[in-house]
Amino acid sequence: MEILRGISVSPGIAIGEAVILEAEDYRIPYRTVAQDEIARELSLLQTAVDDSIAELERQEDWLNDHMGRDAAEVFDWHIGVLRDVRLIGNIKSLIEEKHTAAAYATSTVMRNYQRRFMQMSDPLLVERIRDVQDIERRLLRHILGESREDLAHLTKPAILVAHDLTPTQTARLPETQVLGVALDAGAATSHTAILLRSSGRPGVIGLGDVTTRVSGGDLLIIDGSNQLIIVNPTGPTLEEYKAKEAAYGRLTAELNELISLPSDTRDGEKVQLLSNIEFPHEARVGVEKGGDGVGLYRTEFLFLRQADAPTEEEQYESYVEAIRGADGRPVTIRTFDLGADKHTQQKSYEQERNPMLGLRSIRYSLQNLDMFKIQLRAILRASQHGRVKLMFPLITSLMEFRQAKLTLHDAMEDLEEIGTPFSRDIAVGMMLETPAAVIQVREFCREVDFVSIGTNDLLQYMLAVDRGNERVSQFYNASHPALLRALRDVIRACSQAEVECTLCGETGGQPLYTLFLLGVGLRRFSMAPANIPEIKKLIRLVSVAKAQRVARRALSFETERQVTNYLRDETRKLLPEDPI
Ligand code: PEP
Ligand code: MG
Repeated sequence: MEILRGISVSPGIAIGEAVILEAEDYRIPYRTVAQDEIARELSLLQTAVDDSIAELERQEDWLNDHMGRDAAEVFDWHIGVLRDVRLIGNIKSLIEEKHTAAAYATSTVMRNYQRRFMQMSDPLLVERIRDVQDIERRLLRHILGESREDLAHLTKPAILVAHDLTPTQTARLPETQVLGVALDAGAATSHTAILLRSSGRPGVIGLGDVTTRVSGGDLLIIDGSNQLIIVNPTGPTLEEYKAKEAAYGRLTAELNELISLPSDTRDGEKVQLLSNIEFPHEARVGVEKGGDGVGLYRTEFLFLRQADAPTEEEQYESYVEAIRGADGRPVTIRTFDLGADKHTQQKSYEQERNPMLGLRSIRYSLQNLDMFKIQLRAILRASQHGRVKLMFPLITSLMEFRQAKLTLHDAMEDLEEIGTPFSRDIAVGMMLETPAAVIQVREFCREVDFVSIGTNDLLQYMLAVDRGNERVSQFYNASHPALLRALRDVIRACSQAEVECTLCGETGGQPLYTLFLLGVGLRRFSMAPANIPEIKKLIRLVSVAKAQRVARRALSFETERQVTNYLRDETRKLLPEDPI
């Protein structure tokens, strides 16, 4: 038995035989054709282009119906490329002038196109390399007349193991018998990861070399909740996971019954459970899961979905969609958190030696003021349609917050000048994600309307562990006593200053930390919508006094192992059935 740790894309457990997806790297040999065959090759190409577009449109319709417009839009760009007269014209010229076969001409031109993206300095465009590969494969599949869509032909449920998946392959998962996914590659915010999450399959990515450690037919367990996979489990482990899988199924059904109930503690203390969303349509999903609004809208996903920056109008429409989805509940819009882990880890991305410490987040926005102001105007305009709050990510110094607010005031003046309505009294908050901000929390409380604690980043900066690096993931542990003490101090400082405090990092959606957070005074938790029912169940089972006792004891330990063991024991007493 072997245990491999990676980055979780979606929670849950899947057990099954491994199917390895070979890297579909078509090697197209150089081949020329006779003069009288050129017309045939040109028509082969045109048919492949037409069929590819038709296939993509069908795929978009399917995605639109099953996963919403945002998932479907990923393929707009693919269709745009296939309709690009110049690009297809280049392939045709190669066939006509050099008499090459259609497959060779297609592969040559598409690989040149791919190289152009590799050379681009804008790291946002790196994601396009995979899209171009995807388009090339699709065209070649049509030209060569072979069906390489292995996944669609699976005859029994299986766990998919691959180096990486293209957006197309990922988008088709719901139509296949794939139970769960394990990938070598690991960009938590790539199109592939976004679509994997929407597919609802348990998935662990960033496993490094899972394709070399697993053979087809091996028995695999995907534990999406604990970010690991188990290869060829021993009998007792398999039994344990079968029980967990069954419990998970029962739990999901039982939890859905809590959706309409309030998230008050046993002794009646009011707690707010909010959603973290990446796409605007998820605001409604959060409400359907029993949430009280959106605590974190990661707007940078608007950016990563398309090659160009989204226009003010496109942004405005997305924000309004989220506001409408929240149906009168608050929506906290975070300005773009670009850079660092918000890009794929491909070559040209190595320009910054320490991207996690580099030009990311609010720093990036403040150096790209035009882009930043466009976003602020779009948010302000949307703010008149509902209860909008605005927050800036990764605020590390007071000057940074003041500068961001000045830019917001500039954006307000722009709108005033042209007579566009917006909410002038919009609440403006900060994400607290660095040790510096923890230490200066009292000063920040004098200037911000609210604080939202981003434990994902706070943990990486406190413990000096890259949150996206699978090689150090064993050190990335939210039970570290230093984090617990920092959280206690921040929550206490906010409460004393009467500044609203939310926690929107992953720990907010993990039952293991719920009692502790409640006990140190947190009353606003923001998490992936899927986690809301379970956290609600736990909160309804505990009194504030009990949570305070648990928090005091948890704070008395010296090591993360003691903290985890203690919190797990206490949580299991309340949720004996749940996999914690
Ligand atoms: C965080 O850092 O905890 C957070 C919520 O933001 P993100 O995960 O998008 O960096
Ligand atoms: Mg963050």
